[in-house]
Amino acid sequence: MKMSKLHVPTLKEDPADAEVISHKLMLRAGMIRKLTAGIYSYLPLGYRSLRKVEQIVREEMDASEAQEVFLPTVQPSELWKESGRWDYYGTELLRFRDRHDRECCLGPTHEEVITDLVRRDVRSYRDLPLNLYQIQTKFRDEIRPRFGLMRGREFTMKDGYSFDATEEGAETTYMIMRDAYERIFRRCSLQFRAVEADSGPIGGSFSHEFMVLANTGEDTVVSCDRCDYAANLEKAEIRPCEPCNESIGTVPEKVSTQSVRTIEEVSQFLGITPSNLIKTLILKTDKGPVAVLIRGDHELNDVKVKNYLAVTEIELADEKLIHEVTGGPLGFSGPVGLTGVTILADHSIRGMQSAVVGANEKDFHLINVSPLSGFKVDGYGDFRSAAAGDPCPRCDGKLLMSRGIEVGHIFKLGTKYSESMNATFLDPDGKETFMIMGCYGIGVSRTVAAAIEQNHDEDGIIFPPPLAPFSVIITTVGAKNEEIDATAENIYQILWKNGYDTLLDDRNERPGVKFKDADLIGIPVRLTIGKKALAEGKVELRSRKTKQTILVEINNVLDAVTDMISNWDA
Ligand code: ATP
Ligand code: MG
Repeated sequence: MKMSKLHVPTLKEDPADAEVISHKLMLRAGMIRKLTAGIYSYLPLGYRSLRKVEQIVREEMDASEAQEVFLPTVQPSELWKESGRWDYYGTELLRFRDRHDRECCLGPTHEEVITDLVRRDVRSYRDLPLNLYQIQTKFRDEIRPRFGLMRGREFTMKDGYSFDATEEGAETTYMIMRDAYERIFRRCSLQFRAVEADSGPIGGSFSHEFMVLANTGEDTVVSCDRCDYAANLEKAEIRPCEPCNESIGTVPEKVSTQSVRTIEEVSQFLGITPSNLIKTLILKTDKGPVAVLIRGDHELNDVKVKNYLAVTEIELADEKLIHEVTGGPLGFSGPVGLTGVTILADHSIRGMQSAVVGANEKDFHLINVSPLSGFKVDGYGDFRSAAAGDPCPRCDGKLLMSRGIEVGHIFKLGTKYSESMNATFLDPDGKETFMIMGCYGIGVSRTVAAAIEQNHDEDGIIFPPPLAPFSVIITTVGAKNEEIDATAENIYQILWKNGYDTLLDDRNERPGVKFKDADLIGIPVRLTIGKKALAEGKVELRSRKTKQTILVEINNVLDAVTDMISNWDA
């Protein structure tokens, strides 16, 4: 491709509405343009990078014996009603009616459609396992679309679904997909981690998220400083602490705390630390309200509570419900004397000697309360979020926190959809059995953005070669010169013939302008052809990553380019 013909509308200034670096750079490098909130058009460079990710994904899926299909975007509501998600999915699901007044939605994911497809044609255990995937546009009406391709409303996803006849088979498929994902992100030259994620009611280690490590990530990755334990914050386990068997508190005493109510304010007022306080959180669930006790310096992890109770919905109670449950106002709830509600306590509560709790009465707290004898607890469990410095659940190490961008998610679904949608097969004994499913997603467009978050500098993008829109850019410098042009054309042909997608910057611009553009769009290798070096039979090769320049003999250009690209991550 010749740069003079390519549509690359680069921008000099940072666009005002772009907050993260990948969004800014993709706009500036002329890769994408916004149509409306969370919806983008891909220009030639952006689309080339997107297709590179797609191709890596496709190759690794095919190598894992998954088969590519292409499913419809518009989905009828009936299927979603069958699975039970029509009511559950909320406003992220874009719904509309067609001319016959039939309810439809734009697919945010395809469990329903694929389960329907498979249940129609698959009859016997002999047809299983089956693993189908597609690379397709998804629509999710995100509440806050932001950061360009990172959180769009319309975006490209690879979604795959597996159907197995046995638990062991489903677990093997899961492992095969896990390995394929490792290969995909490694081939994309990304620094990433596969972390344990919440697998809801299925439990076990059957959900992993693939996180690209970057400071701008919206997710928190918890990892051990010694072993290879890594989990997302929702899932990260906390080792139960030893129960404390002595109580130093004397008799519980009701004290006025006037109008202070936050943990910090109460601690300050009473001259204690937040770790001496118990927060009593009243939560509303679809199985009724619960009270959860968490130490004052810890954070509630509602996903853990949700899994413990096996409920589908959970949220903090409003003032009215708090009053109904405790008899007191918001900010003064406590477990002492609380009846008629399930009381759960985090393991750490057992380690407290004496605690301060709310008195279920405006402006009053109880001090010297013993968690051993002061109130009843219906169940102890791991209900808080991990924090930096917590002990690792697997070894003697300590937990660290870092930021990540979720680019992939694999999940063992079990029989959730096959049961609700009646996807069965006949097992070897002729018995009708539910298929065991798994689902496997990759944010293809988000992966391009994540690669830029991880690889850029003040001059622009530093594309890892496998994702770069072009691998090499040939820049001619100096006044129009036949020998320069002929050499450029010759090298351009050689590189293309040998599999390097090469851009030839033949524009009539100053070298500075050409170099700036090449740096901004992040082409890994820049080859400069100028009069002086050419007189000695040489051209200049520069790595976008190291910024080092070497002079190479014209005859050695192909080897030198190959060398630079194959040692990119070294
Ligand atoms: P998130 O927590 O970021 O909203 P999710 O859990 O909703 O992600 P999945 O349903 O697992 O995501 O979708 C599979 C993959 O699709 C994700 O791992 C992510 O890479 C990508 N993805 C999800 N939502 C978006 C979005 N709004 N824009 C771009 N990519 C997305
Ligand atoms: Mg989401």
